[in-house]
Amino acid sequence: MPKSLSNSISPLDAESHFGWQQQLAQAITDPLQLLEMLAIDALHFPQCQQASEDFQLKVPQHYINKIEPGNPHDPLLKQVMASAPEVRAVTGFERDPVGDLAAMAAPGLLHKYQGRVLLVTTGACAVHCRYCFRRHFPYSQQPAARNNWQDALDYIRRDSSIHEVILSGGDPLVLSNGKLTPLLLAINDIPHVEQLRLHTRLPVMIPQRIDDSLLNLLKSLRLQTCMVIHANHAAEIADDEIDVLHKLRAAGITLLNQSVLLKGINDSTGALNQLSKRLYHAGVLPYYLHLLDRVEGAAHFEVNEADAIALMQQLRQELPGYLLPRLVREIQGKKSKIPVFEL
Ligand code: SF4
Repeated sequence: MPKSLSNSISPLDAESHFGWQQQLAQAITDPLQLLEMLAIDALHFPQCQQASEDFQLKVPQHYINKIEPGNPHDPLLKQVMASAPEVRAVTGFERDPVGDLAAMAAPGLLHKYQGRVLLVTTGACAVHCRYCFRRHFPYSQQPAARNNWQDALDYIRRDSSIHEVILSGGDPLVLSNGKLTPLLLAINDIPHVEQLRLHTRLPVMIPQRIDDSLLNLLKSLRLQTCMVIHANHAAEIADDEIDVLHKLRAAGITLLNQSVLLKGINDSTGALNQLSKRLYHAGVLPYYLHLLDRVEGAAHFEVNEADAIALMQQLRQELPGYLLPRLVREIQGKKSKIPVFEL
């Protein structure tokens, strides 16, 4: 290939040749392989293989491309790299910290909050975030594993107080358009449902997932549709991500971001300030900043409440109100997220 031609192919073009599903299938799952690819000495991550046995490491190539080689402290790497603190038991950290299993109203359907339900669309994700509050969720026992949402859809049809359906998981966008289409059309046909919300890391993990067919599907719905993209750091949102987020906006999708306050990753006003500004540049509004859900294996990511409030106080001096996320905590059994800091 002539040099000039090879130089004209961007990393995203090169990844597109493989398609998003192939990228998903070829995600790296071996911690030592990931470290080798990034030229990072395994001594920085003792017991990484043991931690990955409990909750398997999984990172797609596109995301790896955004991690700084040779830097064991990279904030993107820390979100996905299995590490020794995960295998230490810490008092107060549980397997189901937000009470998902108690809120199961129908197989695969959580009904915690008035007027809205959450459908566990699939157990699969494009990435395994080490802080995930569902890292111990028994996905294999849910109907999502069999793509059978009939009971959940019947429950929604029967309850006319449900106005919003939230697709979560796992990550709903790991489903093919072929699987997603009948589900979305069935929800679209329920007259009392007005809003659809998708919680997904795919625009940040594998932006090629936002293909024309998905955009056309979302555009065809009568539902007001919102996508919450779950970015935690500005470096996750590069030019490729901005392109697809702009396409989603152009398709009439409201874009919000929800992040988790994570020690050593985004627990500084500088990181949070840059994240809000980068999101806005991409057409996304910061929505929630969550205190960590106290899930077993993630204690080392926790930022205490007093430090979190101090960060928000400083951030309030620096950013306009519309770029300040709401600092919240989820408490088991409560009917809404609990604000920790009033703007
Ligand atoms: S993408 Fe979401 S559900 Fe999946 S591992 Fe990450 S935080 Fe958990």
